[in-house]
Amino acid sequence: MARSPRRAEAAAKGGKPGAALRGGRLDAQAYARNFADSHPPLAPNQALIECDRCYFCHDAPCIQACPTQIDIPSFIRKIATGNTRGAAHDILKQNIMGAVCARVCPTEVLCEGACVRNDQEHKPVAIGALQRHATDWLFDRGIQLFKRGASTGKRVAVVGGGPAGLSCAHRLSMLGHSVTVFEARDKLGGLNEYGVAAYKVTGQIAQREVEYLLEIGGIDCKPGRRLGRDVSLSRLRQDYDAVFLGIGLGAVNDLAIDAAPAAGVFDAVAYIEKLRQAADLSKLPVGAAVVVIGGGMTAIDIASQVKRLGAEDVTIVYRRGPQSMGASGKEQAWAQTSGVRIKHWARPLRLLVRDKVLTAVEFETTRLDRQGRLEGSGARFTLPADMVFKAIGQVLVKEGLDGNADVLELSAGRIAVDAQQRTSIPGVWAGGDCVAGGQDLTVVAVEDGKRAAHSIDRHLRMA
Ligand SMILES: Cc1cc2nc3c(=O)[nH]c(=O)nc-3n(C[C@H](O)[C@H](O)[C@H](O)COP(=O)(O)OP(=O)(O)OC[C@H]3O[C@@H](n4cnc5c(N)ncnc54)[C@H](O)[C@@H]3O)c2cc1C
Ligand code: SF4
Repeated sequence: MARSPRRAEAAAKGGKPGAALRGGRLDAQAYARNFADSHPPLAPNQALIECDRCYFCHDAPCIQACPTQIDIPSFIRKIATGNTRGAAHDILKQNIMGAVCARVCPTEVLCEGACVRNDQEHKPVAIGALQRHATDWLFDRGIQLFKRGASTGKRVAVVGGGPAGLSCAHRLSMLGHSVTVFEARDKLGGLNEYGVAAYKVTGQIAQREVEYLLEIGGIDCKPGRRLGRDVSLSRLRQDYDAVFLGIGLGAVNDLAIDAAPAAGVFDAVAYIEKLRQAADLSKLPVGAAVVVIGGGMTAIDIASQVKRLGAEDVTIVYRRGPQSMGASGKEQAWAQTSGVRIKHWARPLRLLVRDKVLTAVEFETTRLDRQGRLEGSGARFTLPADMVFKAIGQVLVKEGLDGNADVLELSAGRIAVDAQQRTSIPGVWAGGDCVAGGQDLTVVAVEDGKRAAHSIDRHLRMA
């Protein structure tokens, strides 16, 4: 994955603007290699060796660090003693999306980051890989572990079929309630299906997990139904006993610069969505010189994937230092080993455009002033670019969130909830990325959905 700045500069200085955006930059084997499973599964004997490394700690810090509180030493012991089904049950009863989470969780800052093995060996037990080992084993055998509870006769509307909504729906069904999921897109799964990097969730694992979860029954799915367009919150409140909102963040932040519309400027999340749904990766147009603006997981993912699609020169530009990036050190290292350059301490000033086509981005370097506030230094530099990606965070789409007479309270632009995921509107709960104060991780969304389901259950049983 060598860089070729000369080609990038040619795109910026001369030639036909925009001509560098094209698909088919690689041969079929290279696409397959670049988008293969980034963390292949453990072989059975590797899994046993890894289980042997666990101390089965009392008050295990790895459990505390898991947002869904999976009993990690318990499931590791079960794998070690040949009870893989029991291990999968330990995982899925806490986190019904444990198969995808095993692939996408930033374990280095969660369970594995807390593992005591780091102290002696600087190498944690490979908890994520063992979780994948157990859940893959179960899925491969088609074993269903969960049953719908005896019917309570209560009906709950879940808006959004992502990790938060599906986790809530599954738990509600286990508790005996009937659930209807309203999902704006054609497929369920949310960002597991449309957002997470392709090499983390290879094959059909996201849909396989959705199918497993729905097998419990009692969950009626209505794809293609959008809150605010096809259904209103006040109507759902009338028709159902409770409502859960798990609508994620549907829009991206814009660059805070003056920029006329130009070819070559892309929203990273929308591009990733196309990539995840593409039947043929060679059809996706990529530039020769690509600039990504942002410092979170989305910035890492778009940069790494565009590089793997054959872009020659890919640079992430972030306004602060590496410690402040939303992406973990491991993710930053992943982008760098994919051939991506990360440039810290700079912010975009303007897009350079010729004939309505992007040719470069001008930046100003940044620094902290005496009060620790970010400021521009006045020094400028230009990066040639035929493609720029905006990856500076997503925002809540507020359309459809009216609650009739009641007001849905927001905090920092997201839905405000209490410790039980209750919103300011009676009978309406929310969770996942759309609520304030969370971490924007799949596993956190799953936990929010589960917690909300138990709160809804308590409420409905008292009613
Ligand atoms: C590019 C990218 C990469 C990421 N990578 C990782 C990763 O590697 N690991 C990790 O842990 N997290 C990752 N995340 C974060 C993670 O994907 C989210 O935290 C998680 O998906 C949140 O789940 P959710 O259910 O709240 O929202 P979503 O997954 O966004 O699901 C919301 C669902 O609601 C639907 N919806 C929205 N509006 C409406 C409406 N009005 N009516 C009906 N339905 C609606 C949407 O179509 C969607 O299906 C990533 C995020 C992005 C953007
Ligand atoms: S902290 Fe590490 S060693 Fe201890 S129980 Fe958890 S995985 Fe095992």
